[in-house]
Amino acid sequence: MNRTASCTCGQLRIEVQGEPRVVGICHCLACQQRTGSVFAALASFAAPYKVSGKATEYVRTGDQGAKFRFRFCPVCGTTVFHTEEGYEAISAGVAVGAFRDPDFPAPQVSIYDCRRHPWVQLPSGTKAFEKDPD
Ligand SMILES: [Zn+2]
Ligand SMILES: [Zn+2]
Repeated sequence: MNRTASCTCGQLRIEVQGEPRVVGICHCLACQQRTGSVFAALASFAAPYKVSGKATEYVRTGDQGAKFRFRFCPVCGTTVFHTEEGYEAISAGVAVGAFRDPDFPAPQVSIYDCRRHPWVQLPSGTKAFEKDPD
């Protein structure tokens, strides 16, 4: 099964194949700020994936030193996907909301649970990690 995630104006797209390797939500403060929401919902897909359109990039270094390269639309500002430096050929993390699919698989993991807003309740069966388990 192929899925396409796109920005609000539609010019930036990523097409992915198969089922996500993992679907997670992240409550870290950087993700809250980055998305403007109180948590990020991300799905990791194995390569190959196909990107079209123009993206502006922003690299953020995570707590464990990994460098994450976020791609967002320079026109409408939607954050669409990111890759980890050195792992571009292996997988991409796609913003779940960019699929515009309410039937998208629910998250299996919740990370940076220590930053979770107390009113956010996890779906039953979601495995919560205080920080990033990697
Ligand atoms: Zn756009
Ligand atoms: Zn995060």
